[in-house]
Amino acid sequence: MEENLGKASLKSMQLDRNALRNDSHRWKFPIPYKMGASIDLNTKGVILQAFEMFRLKSCIDFKPYEGEKSYLQFEKMKGCWSYVGNLQTGQVVSIGSGCEYKDIVEHELLHALGFFHEQSRTDRDDYIKIWWNEIMDGQAYNFNKYNDSFISDLNTPYDYESIMHYGPYSFSKNNSVPTITTKIPEFNNVIGQSKDMSKIDVKRLNRMYRCASSLTLLDQCLFESIDICGMVKNGRDDKDWEHTLTTSQNNNNHCLEKDYVMSFDTTKGLSGDTAILESRILYPRRNEKCLQFYYKFDGSPKDELIVWLKTDDGTGNVRKSTKLKSIRGDGEKQWNFANIPFNSRTKFRYVFHGLKGDPQNSKGGIQIDDITLTEMQCPTSIWQIRNFTSILKNSSKGDHLPSPIFYNSEGYCFVLSLYPRGLANSNRDYLGIMFALCSSQNDAALEWPAGNRQVTFTIVDQDSDIIQRMSASRSFVTDPNQHYR
Ligand SMILES: [Zn+2]
Repeated sequence: MEENLGKASLKSMQLDRNALRNDSHRWKFPIPYKMGASIDLNTKGVILQAFEMFRLKSCIDFKPYEGEKSYLQFEKMKGCWSYVGNLQTGQVVSIGSGCEYKDIVEHELLHALGFFHEQSRTDRDDYIKIWWNEIMDGQAYNFNKYNDSFISDLNTPYDYESIMHYGPYSFSKNNSVPTITTKIPEFNNVIGQSKDMSKIDVKRLNRMYRCASSLTLLDQCLFESIDICGMVKNGRDDKDWEHTLTTSQNNNNHCLEKDYVMSFDTTKGLSGDTAILESRILYPRRNEKCLQFYYKFDGSPKDELIVWLKTDDGTGNVRKSTKLKSIRGDGEKQWNFANIPFNSRTKFRYVFHGLKGDPQNSKGGIQIDDITLTEMQCPTSIWQIRNFTSILKNSSKGDHLPSPIFYNSEGYCFVLSLYPRGLANSNRDYLGIMFALCSSQNDAALEWPAGNRQVTFTIVDQDSDIIQRMSASRSFVTDPNQHYR
């Protein structure tokens, strides 16, 4: 997973400051797109992933081309580049070889939507220093800055974390001497990030296009306020979910962290007592749903958390119940991440149903926190690795952690290996992930070789707010001719 990519260059500047506010260089949604014949399967999948990030974080939407005048045409040309703004003629976005990454496609799409590089800002010299002598011959124009009569910062501060910011070695003559350094040195390791749009990128995008809401985020609750996001407690008083303040020690900075969660005390009452927490009624746009949340069991091993879906029973009442998942503690008394895919085309609620197992032997209960419900595809599998900071500290090159065995929706078995410090023969410090298919009882029923399936690894940012999460993803497509030896 080594990377040495120069961030995209600018092809052309078509916008002025007024044009940002002028409909002629702005897009109307959904934006029509064509996948050129040069776009291979992996690149196409990565472009579709980037579209989904725009749909999650803004009101920007895309649709296949149907004869419109303005559109985006994806091609695999030399390098990663885009024009800035809507040219009104149909315009190429190049996702060349080495550019097939979610974050690079997002970067090029932000150009097409009307954004320049962060280091082109009028005030950039207050924040960074450009080392002109270290820039490759003929490439200095990539470091131009623009007058504030030409570009607008949309009243947001300089953003070292922007996905539109070059890295320290972009266009460097020899790749070991930086072309950009930050005036606050801590940000030298931040500029040029290759994860996702930053909080400020998202804010600017939503400001420029006056977005009112996300297209695919249906519900989110971090339980920070007592209104609990309109969720409804439906049990009897002494047995119900409680809005609770918890404190825990953060091992990274030794601070005491405070957080509100919903908790169900299972130390009193009778086994079989239940507590119900229902979402408000939700109205879908798509069929596909992904419910994710954190949960912790620290009571009796017999305590149980059941997640239900309630849908319209055909009379307009949301009361037809389907069990989505039943969860019990693993004895670890730690936070776990739940990932529950389901479908609904009609209005629905989701329901957390706590069940007391054995109050005499319980010293705690069940807690849930940070719920998000999106109309996106859920990940196939989640691999949660605890104490990663200490694993990283105590690993050498070549050391690896094996994952549990996972299955995809078709039934293919696969395993991952995580190399916290990279492969033994590498001279760089990086995180590596290996993927391998494995044998299972499903093998006889499956197609072999298992070619042309896209594998995407995502390292999930733990920001509670899914809109602000900056997760890193890398993808590849399985090759039917490649064999492991
Ligand atoms: Zn660029």
